[in-house]
Amino acid sequence: MRPSLLDPLFAPITSLEGVGPKVAGLIEKIVPADLGDRPARVGDLLFVLPHTVIDRRSRPGIAGSAEGAIVTLDLRVDRHQPPPRGNRSVPYRVFAFDETGEIALTFFHAHAAYLEKALPVGEDVVVSGRMEWFNGRPSMVHPDHIALAADAASLPLVEPVYPMTAGLSGKVLRRAIAQALARLPVLPDWLDTDVARRHSFPPLAAALARLHDPKDPLDVSPEGAAWRRLAYDEFLAGQVSLALIRARRRKYSGRPLVGDGKIESALRTALPYSLTGSQEFALSEIVADLARPERMLRLLQGDVGSGKTVVALLAMARAVEAGGQAAIMAPTEILARQHLATIAPLAEKAGLTVAVLTGREKGRDRADTLARLADGSVDIVVGTHALFQEPVKFRDLVFVVVDEQHRFGVHQRLAITAKGEAPDMLVMTATPIPRTLVLTAFGDMEVSRLTEKPAGRQPIRTVTLPLDRVDELVGRIRDAVADGQKVYWICPLVEESEEIKLMSAEDRFAVLAEDFGNAVGLVHGRMKGAEKDEAMRAFKEGETRILVATTVIEVGVDVPDATIMVIEHAERFGLAQLHQLRGRVGRGSKPSSCVLLYKDPLGETAKRRLSVMRETEDGFLISEEDLKLRGEGELLGTRQSGTPGFQVARIEFHADLLETARDDARLILNRDPELTSARGEALRILLYLFGRDDAVRLLRAG
Ligand code: ADP
Ligand code: MG
Repeated sequence: MRPSLLDPLFAPITSLEGVGPKVAGLIEKIVPADLGDRPARVGDLLFVLPHTVIDRRSRPGIAGSAEGAIVTLDLRVDRHQPPPRGNRSVPYRVFAFDETGEIALTFFHAHAAYLEKALPVGEDVVVSGRMEWFNGRPSMVHPDHIALAADAASLPLVEPVYPMTAGLSGKVLRRAIAQALARLPVLPDWLDTDVARRHSFPPLAAALARLHDPKDPLDVSPEGAAWRRLAYDEFLAGQVSLALIRARRRKYSGRPLVGDGKIESALRTALPYSLTGSQEFALSEIVADLARPERMLRLLQGDVGSGKTVVALLAMARAVEAGGQAAIMAPTEILARQHLATIAPLAEKAGLTVAVLTGREKGRDRADTLARLADGSVDIVVGTHALFQEPVKFRDLVFVVVDEQHRFGVHQRLAITAKGEAPDMLVMTATPIPRTLVLTAFGDMEVSRLTEKPAGRQPIRTVTLPLDRVDELVGRIRDAVADGQKVYWICPLVEESEEIKLMSAEDRFAVLAEDFGNAVGLVHGRMKGAEKDEAMRAFKEGETRILVATTVIEVGVDVPDATIMVIEHAERFGLAQLHQLRGRVGRGSKPSSCVLLYKDPLGETAKRRLSVMRETEDGFLISEEDLKLRGEGELLGTRQSGTPGFQVARIEFHADLLETARDDARLILNRDPELTSARGEALRILLYLFGRDDAVRLLRAG
């Protein structure tokens, strides 16, 4: 049960004044928490941190204020000069003065009643905004803040600037955050006093106050003590929760899976190639883990195209040899079908029975598959999340492979684990996660890496091209298609609310179809499963030559003879995503190329991303760059605060805290494994605060 102390923070944000359903929807776009299906809560707002401040502390007086400077002025209001009746193009001017001179506060389309109240004649006021000199005369157009001298304290001299999303006003957001802060209950501190002292961490409430109501620009720096304290809290929550999961894993120890190698060697005979050295090495690590009595939890990390699937298949063979069943779970329908297409022919040659289970299998087929999973006549099942929903029962599930881990959270991991008698687990990811991140996000896992690509691969030539030269590109594609090549053409997802006019996949498809007719296919997320399959199949078999797609093909799709990847509006994609997409080509023996189509003008970060893409194909380098570039002002409306998987912690600033948090977590759990001491109780609260309460449930389940 969640401590009732936290109730105010778990109320929906619509309980705040000024936050109706519409504003709530906008706020949900910027809170750093991974909301899933739940509405944003008051507590989520606490972690929306400012990325910079507007410094209004300069008070040079009217005469001393430079053109364009942000200043705060202490003024006395002299007179109002409304625009002549019926002429709305003339602004409303309020003249005010200090001992150095007079200034015109200027308002377009003003509400006279409001201005009369805010700037009463003869009163002392404080205003803050941008100074403008026009023909030697000072003015301030639409001051950012106006307060009566008596309320001067309400004017933020160091004003936090939050992530923005179209339609959400800074004022509304600041007001909501201020209310959230006011609802922060007094919480027991979970920090180790030594750690807190060593790092000069302020108490939680003070840290939040400093970040949201800064007195100095340094207060909101990620390197400042306030932000570091929150980052440490988040790391600690993560490490405690991982340690709890790890402890439970040990308790439910697995069983040794030792096979005779017969199925494995039959599979190897059926393979049209031999494994690379790093595939062999990773497989040997996995096989050794399987043979141990403890449960395996291992991450298989390999860049796109490095050949993870076959490693998984050979490992699954071991599990079957040992008398059990294995499952491989993919994040999407398309991927599950593709795994099936890869695995089934090989597996059948080796005498294995393979089945598929996704949301699409219905009726009698589904019932039949369920029955065969339950009675053990299926050896290997390929599927999506559907595999781990309630009615699915296995006779003896001993090994689970989860492909493309970054789509699944800890939560799903636990759900899967519950299906078998503590099955061994292999998690595969194409995201070349830097070491520091592995430790944080997957601290409870061992890691195997595929460092080589299969032999015979050719490097991918990457070029950038402004969108207005798309016709040249189409010309080149015409030649390539005539030459028998295959082309992916990726378009960004277009949200309906989007103001900027973008070409959607459907539009692009229509344009290309005028040129290429039936040679163009289309696949996007809103299509039905069977339609998607059909589009993929037609492309794979060469009936279509150009496949226009949204990012549904981002992960894992394998069409080895595709040689050209066009990414439209490449400036809108993150580095990791661009790398993933590019990895769809360059899989066969023919040279491949990737064309990044961008819309001018490019922002600094986007420019840097595209040049990184041109410079390297090394997934690890790219992910390091990605980490560096993140947070440097991302696209409007995207989450900005934390490193992926985190709300406030940022690896590039806070990595040094991670080890401390890990040691701290170990120490606590050695002393108090059930978190029942006073500090343990406080830590439970911390877990709730950062959404790691899955682990608290583990405690009760014991
Ligand atoms: P990923 O690691 O991206 O999931 P896949 O498992 O989809 O990669 O493999 C990519 C392609 O490489 C597939 O077509 C697969 O058959 C092929 N492949 C895998 N291993 C080898 C190998 N050792 N030699 C040649 N081709 C291989
Ligand atoms: Mg894959």
